[in-house]
Amino acid sequence: MDLRWTAGQAAFRAQARAWLEANVPRELPSGTREAHQALLRWERLMHEARWGVVAWPRRYGGRDATIWEWLIFEEEYYRAGGPHRVTQNGIFLLAPALFEFGTRQQQDRYLPAIAAARDLWCQGWSEPGAGSDLAAVRATATRDEARGGWLLSGQKTWTTRGSFCTHLFGLFRTGSAPGAAPGQGQGRRHQGLTYFLVALDTPGITVRGFARLDGDEEFADVFFDRAFVPDDAVLGQVGQGWSVAMATTGSERGLTLRSPGRFLASAGRLIELYRQRPDPAPDDLALRDRVVQAWIDAQAYNYFTLQQVTAISEGARPGPESSLNKLFWSEADLRLHETALALLGPEAELDGPWARGFLFALAGPIYAGTNEVQRNVVAERLLGLPRR
Ligand SMILES: Cc1cc2nc3c(=O)[nH]c(=O)nc-3n(C[C@H](O)[C@H](O)[C@H](O)COP(=O)(O)OP(=O)(O)OC[C@H]3O[C@@H](n4cnc5c(N)ncnc54)[C@H](O)[C@@H]3O)c2cc1C
Repeated sequence: MDLRWTAGQAAFRAQARAWLEANVPRELPSGTREAHQALLRWERLMHEARWGVVAWPRRYGGRDATIWEWLIFEEEYYRAGGPHRVTQNGIFLLAPALFEFGTRQQQDRYLPAIAAARDLWCQGWSEPGAGSDLAAVRATATRDEARGGWLLSGQKTWTTRGSFCTHLFGLFRTGSAPGAAPGQGQGRRHQGLTYFLVALDTPGITVRGFARLDGDEEFADVFFDRAFVPDDAVLGQVGQGWSVAMATTGSERGLTLRSPGRFLASAGRLIELYRQRPDPAPDDLALRDRVVQAWIDAQAYNYFTLQQVTAISEGARPGPESSLNKLFWSEADLRLHETALALLGPEAELDGPWARGFLFALAGPIYAGTNEVQRNVVAERLLGLPRR
């Protein structure tokens, strides 16, 4: 692996840095409806300047950037203090599945609206009885031959940004009931699931928001009561939703949702926080070690990602290794925020960004598939250990 950037990549970085430094908004709030509007304005500004989805084809609003340039852009985005992206479920989770499984009509219809932040997508997978055991999904899609489509019924829960989104991608059961018990007949339980693309203003859909521990107002439960969707709302084949969904989880756990730039930037801010301490306390050496460890973690994740991107750019597909990414970034992020709170001491509760960041970091080992489940994946699929 050659770790040097080419002249073209360095020029791309300089261009991205100049635009971001001139345009990244300072001190945006997050989680509230007003904050959401401000973040939408930011997304639209990025879109107009073609920085919203750099790696997408030009016809959909991108720059045809390579995966390396995408990584560079991410690094610069977080270095400049760019805010979290309200479009992330659409651009990082749904879009890769649309590129792989969508028809040309679906791509032409959905991708430009995602890029322009006109359509905002949330992920409708989890249900009250289906979280880690996603194949236990009970929400149904029943055939409506007369109208040429499907009637969706059931409940989705923990829907991030559900309250503010316009669309949902979700898994519904079109085949026989879940049947086999967890751990048995997995293949059968995965069959009969279909991946649907649904507008949330469809009659029969109710979105009920609820608050989160960190004050975020975007979380929601989504209820479906015989909501009609046409045939072209199916992404991929009917009954093959599991494969489409697994392509999405690869993106979610792997590098697109949490690129290393985010953690490199956080580690840099942690070092600044350490340097700003007026009076080093007696436990300073131990704390200094934790700060250094956070920096090493971010670098290690960066190099691990570079190795993955090398493989992907040579034609490999992200596989179960994405569980390693997810374990690493979620645990490193939590340690980093714990260290920040230790540095701030009693003032931590008064410090908005680090305290809020810590509360959100607590959720890292849960969302995108819990870390216990990721360890099962690593044990069985990477190390070849027996299930029991
Ligand atoms: C901040 C946040 C955002 C989220 N956003 C979304 C979203 O946008 N869309 C969406 O669909 N879902 C979302 N989720 C839901 C998330 O995917 C689930 O919470 C997660 O998959 C776990 O499911 P569960 O909560 O039902 O817990 P359970 O599956 O009931 O798990 C409970 C505990 O048992 C453990 N466990 C379960 N099975 C095993 C096993 N086989 N081996 C070892 N341990 C096991 C788990 O690790 C966990 O500790 C979000 C969750 C959070 C916290």
